Amino acid sequence: MIAMNFSPKNEVWKDVDLSDAKEVLHHAFDLYHPRISIASSFGLEDVSLIDMAASIRPDFRVFALDTGRLNEETYECAEKIMERYGISIEWYFPKTESVQELERTKGMFSFRESVENRRECCGIRKVEPLNRALNNLDAWITGQRREQSLTRSGLNVVEVDKSHGGIAKINPLSDWTLDDVWSYVRRNELPYNRLHDAGYPSIGCAPCTRAIKPGEDQRAGRWWWEHPEHKECGLHINESETGKDVENI
Ligand code: SF4
Repeated sequence: MIAMNFSPKNEVWKDVDLSDAKEVLHHAFDLYHPRISIASSFGLEDVSLIDMAASIRPDFRVFALDTGRLNEETYECAEKIMERYGISIEWYFPKTESVQELERTKGMFSFRESVENRRECCGIRKVEPLNRALNNLDAWITGQRREQSLTRSGLNVVEVDKSHGGIAKINPLSDWTLDDVWSYVRRNELPYNRLHDAGYPSIGCAPCTRAIKPGEDQRAGRWWWEHPEHKECGLHINESETGKDVENI
């Protein structure tokens, strides 16, 4: 069993093998469907989760954030997923007025100028739309893995998402390695984002994500101009044991 922070909500998980991603997904659907959805950025992990979900129940839900700055390859991957599984993606967009104001006053690349500006852009294009997406859910599923970076090393399979009203946050692949994910994708011949073949382990916005070099941290290509402790977009925020908010992706 994997260590997790128990709370009254977690008690319903005590008989589940948290090291078995499919069993975790199955139990999550039993508990929360239809008020549960997979958050997808169309990386390898998300495609794997979608494939597992499709084998459990055909009416599973997937949502995605169209920040307006995604790569062409990511849209192509989304289309392939829709075709293969016969599903629709619940896309969420940023508020038009907020993007207009940002681009009119600060230009198209303000996020390169400071962490504060980068967080402002992520706040408009990702965090606010995510809040809307989660507003009507009791649980969400993510493809986060501990191995991805230091900021995710404390990730649990099941968490209470205090920054989103205390809904459940399920991370079935928490203890998977990148090799585990690739083997699942290859074994099941899943469609995947072509960016992975170009050296992108992590999929994000085009201007803020690049390929990495061998040996680099898997999230080294995200906001590569920033120090590691800042490399989160604010989508995944939990409270640490000290009670302070920490960003864990
Ligand atoms: S990743 Fe970059 S472009 Fe995307 S929302 Fe954040 S700062 Fe803006």
